[in-house]
Amino acid sequence: MDSLTQISGVGTKTLAKLNKLSIFTPLDLLYHFPYRYIDFSHITDINKLQENEAVTINGQLLSFQNIFTRSHKNLQKAVISDKTGQINLLWFNQPYLSKNFRVGDTYSFAGTVTLFQNKKTIIGAISGQYHTGKIVAIYPETSGLTSNWFRKTIQSYLPQLIKNISDTIPNEILKKYQLFGLSNSLSQIHLPSNSKLLQQGRYRLSIDEILSLQTKSYLTKQSWLTKKPQITLEANSKINQKINKIIKNLPFKLTNSQEKVWQEIKNDITNPTKVTNRLLQGDVGSGKTIVALLACYLSHLNQSLSLLIAPTEILAQQHFNTFKKILKSTKTPLFLLTGTSKINFDKIPKNSIIISTHAIIYQKEKLKHQVALLIVDEQHKFGVKQRSFLGNSISLPHCLTMTATPIPRTISLTLLGNLDISIIDSLPTNRLPIKTFLVPPQKISQCFSWIENEIMTTKCQAFVVCPFIDISETMQSVKSATEEFKKISTIFPKLKLDLLHGKIKSKDKDKIISDFQKNKINILITTPIIEVGVDIPNASIMIIQSADRFGLSQLHQLRGRVGRGQLQSYCYLFTESTNDKAQNRLKFMEKNSNGLKIAEYDLKTRGPGEAFSVVQHGFPSLKLANFSDLELIDLSQKILADLVKNKNFDLNSLIPKQLLKENIVSN
Ligand code: ADP
Ligand code: MG
Repeated sequence: MDSLTQISGVGTKTLAKLNKLSIFTPLDLLYHFPYRYIDFSHITDINKLQENEAVTINGQLLSFQNIFTRSHKNLQKAVISDKTGQINLLWFNQPYLSKNFRVGDTYSFAGTVTLFQNKKTIIGAISGQYHTGKIVAIYPETSGLTSNWFRKTIQSYLPQLIKNISDTIPNEILKKYQLFGLSNSLSQIHLPSNSKLLQQGRYRLSIDEILSLQTKSYLTKQSWLTKKPQITLEANSKINQKINKIIKNLPFKLTNSQEKVWQEIKNDITNPTKVTNRLLQGDVGSGKTIVALLACYLSHLNQSLSLLIAPTEILAQQHFNTFKKILKSTKTPLFLLTGTSKINFDKIPKNSIIISTHAIIYQKEKLKHQVALLIVDEQHKFGVKQRSFLGNSISLPHCLTMTATPIPRTISLTLLGNLDISIIDSLPTNRLPIKTFLVPPQKISQCFSWIENEIMTTKCQAFVVCPFIDISETMQSVKSATEEFKKISTIFPKLKLDLLHGKIKSKDKDKIISDFQKNKINILITTPIIEVGVDIPNASIMIIQSADRFGLSQLHQLRGRVGRGQLQSYCYLFTESTNDKAQNRLKFMEKNSNGLKIAEYDLKTRGPGEAFSVVQHGFPSLKLANFSDLELIDLSQKILADLVKNKNFDLNSLIPKQLLKENIVSN
């Protein structure tokens, strides 16, 4: 079959409806998968029917009536009998049904038994060979194209639809892993023989989904491997000595994890044959900045330019201050470039470190020297595409991305196969675990007076984060933060409060942060602008308003702003939501502080888009497979490894466009 119009009854009108569901070709129709099934395969005697049971019955139609009730409702009522008894069938507003049935004839009906006016009844029963006596598929519908339509159409055209399907996975691999063939799987998913075969068909098609994503990552990595470093870096003994001196003079000792990832990154960026494309993951507060600094310093010692891009101006400023302090004894030229701070590009020496917001993207032509190393901090504020913006088709700068979002293994195996990953898996030892509490509205005032007392006695500081899930600062969020500021000011008349949000002028912002750092401000009311990176060890209390509106990973990031110093830290989650799901999610935050666990929970309860917008924009939505199914993902990985070994195999054939059509992964 090569056109949908070959299906009887499909003309321009139906075609337009199919197009609405992204079905343009017979193959698209074949890949329009059911999202659920009802098992009507049990053919039951009428006297054995149980309430709530999905069944098929066979029997003779004793009567059929079209009834108009006094309340102007239109009902169809039928009585059907077999040798064991009889039962009522009921429909609403389907007068045309009378044309389908003749009293005295025998029919099959499928439906679920309910009690209606105290009598066992089947409401909305369906009849006919496509819908009864089997497991029945339920499809995504659109107005005018019901599940019944899809079921009937796909079943009657199934042989033609799967006729010319060739398997994407070679036979020997299917045998090796005991997987169903493609045609068989497609046939089972629409017209299951039984639940076991259905499950095997779905499993095979789920493998296809994961395999196509993994193949995409793999091919991206292969193409990256053909690129050369724009500038090669080395770590000779003199350079190593200088780096070790910086490490020795730090106010703290690097954790083992930091040591380990620094070695990984150093080896990577000093490899002359391969361009680094690495992701550095480390929970909030794990100390990624110092690792970034060492890499930039290595570039400087190679007389080369490095660039660290931060997601916000506040953070760029903070990184700049940290770098200045730690590299004080060296003569490293440091530059800060933000939307508001202008620099003279002609005066930037080749061996500089530039710390910037993404403002740099629009000024990259002004850079007089090639960039050896690009580090992007907290990537979710920064488009993935821009990652390679400083290179060309042959050579690229070494790229290091840093993120605090923990990456479950299933995600790294499917979507991040193109990246090398380094993980800082422990926190500096001087940290106390943060105590987290869910606070219902009636306990808020009690909570405020406790906080006031705590601030007065320990001289600690607090953040109040206002409820804006949108990362970009809008006028709306600024207005709410301003109102919140007024409200909270009246609650704490004895304390000094200030307000920080993205629309405040850069100079004033710096002043507020520096005042907060110097403990001239007790409570800082803010938007999630502080979500990433802001490092104020004396702040040990955080209140998050309307916490239910945040993703858990985002809450975890926010919470990571406290718990950075010697004091016991507290995080209070305020919510007005009494919704069970929201309550459970927040209770999970109360009990868990492990970022990976939180991310995995987010992945299960909200899906990957919420949890991992950080790692990848345009997260693919899978039709069948589940991003937390490690077993499936591992198997698919094995299959890919086998196929890669076969030099004659075209890996591109593993990326069927029917699977990825709605799921475009931007890279
Ligand atoms: P993140 O990984 O969230 O970016 P930072 O790099 O901002 O974390 O580090 C958080 C805080 O921990 C900073 O104040 C930093 O100086 C401090 N820090 C980093 N490494 C260590 C260490 N090994 N021991 C103690 N404190 C450290
Ligand atoms: Mg950071």
